[in-house]
This record gives sequence, structure tokens and C-alpha cells, in this order.
Amino acid sequence: MAMFKLIKSVLRNGDVTTKYPFVPYEVDPDFRGKPELNAEQCIVCAACTMACPANALTMRTNPDTGDRTWSLFLGRCIFCGRCEEVCPTKAIRLTDDFELSVINKQDLYQETTFPTTTCQQCGKPFTSSKELAYTIDLFKQSFDDPNMVMQKLNVLHTCPICKRQNSLEKTADMEANMRVKLAAFNYVKENRE
Ligand code: SF4
Ligand code: SF4
Repeated sequence: MAMFKLIKSVLRNGDVTTKYPFVPYEVDPDFRGKPELNAEQCIVCAACTMACPANALTMRTNPDTGDRTWSLFLGRCIFCGRCEEVCPTKAIRLTDDFELSVINKQDLYQETTFPTTTCQQCGKPFTSSKELAYTIDLFKQSFDDPNMVMQKLNVLHTCPICKRQNSLEKTADMEANMRVKLAAFNYVKENRE
């Protein structure tokens, strides 16, 4: 009798399990799965690496070439979606992929290396080429005056150390100029008295 009831219940309710993995499993539209980087859109700003609470995302710089490597370690990812939220160019997004098992732990790493631009003054690498190109585009959209754009481009192609040095030299020149003017003023004043 109990068996009869069970069969009746099964027939009434139909299948309650899915045929996964023989049939792909359909996840909810808001499901947060494996993050995926679109390297074309990435400007190497590192915002996602700073926002990642699990330290799954990192950015490292090659000290010799200055090239920057974006790295995702899926073994640490908690699928929180912070990287997707902070990315200014929508270069990273969470997919619906949840099949992450691997045989080799190294396969949980995903890396992309981006080239770097060198400083026009000292020739040392200082920023990623893509980030610089993105900033230049923003400047071109913000300024109509071509002279202003040229001035900004000059500054943008200079590394922070050279910029600081230029600024110190400019200040020293201004101070020297002031001293000369002050000495001339005092000389004229003394000769008048
Ligand atoms: S989903 Fe969260 S934990 Fe995973 S890489 Fe993005 S920010 Fe880090
Ligand atoms: S926040 Fe976006 S653009 Fe910036 S490094 Fe991360 S993925 Fe690239």
C-alpha cells in the first residue's frame, strides 16, 4: 500500500531532479559565477585588485620591463562581484560558469600581461600604455584647445619622478629670479638715498 502511494506521488510530482551533467544546468539570470576579463577593454587601472576582498585579484609589475600582469586566482574568489562593480570600463564581469574543478592547481590562475609606456624624459617605464591611452582620450574629449591638449600630453608622457624634478627646478628658478629682482630693487633704493 505504501509503495502504491509512493508511485502515485512520483507520477503526480514528475521529475524533481535535473539531468545535469548530461544536460547543461540552467542557472538564475543573476547567478554570480566565474569572473571573466575582457583584455581589450581593460585599462590596467588596478581598481578591481584593490576592491577584491579575497585577494583573488592581483597586479604585479615586472621590474625590468615595467610590464604589468593582471592575475586572477579562482581558488580564492568568493564570487562577490566587487570587481565588476568597480571596473570603470566594464572589462570584468561575472559569468554563469560554475564548473571550476581542475586537476592542476595552476590552472586556477588566469593571467594577462599588458605593456608599459616609458617616460619621455628619463626613459623608464611608468604606466600601462592602455591606461595612458584611456586618459589621453578623456583629455581630448574635455579640451577643445589643441595647445592645451599638447601641454597635457607632454605632462602625461612624463613619469611622476621627472614631474617632481621639473617642478623643483621651476621653483628654484622662480626663487632665483625673485632674489635677482630683490637685489636690483635694493640697489636702486640704496643709490637713491
Ligand atoms: S568576484 Fe569578488 S572575490 Fe572574486 S575576483 Fe571579483 S572581487 Fe575578487
Ligand atoms: S578595474 Fe577593470 S580596467 Fe581596471 S584593471 Fe580591473 S579589469 Fe582592468
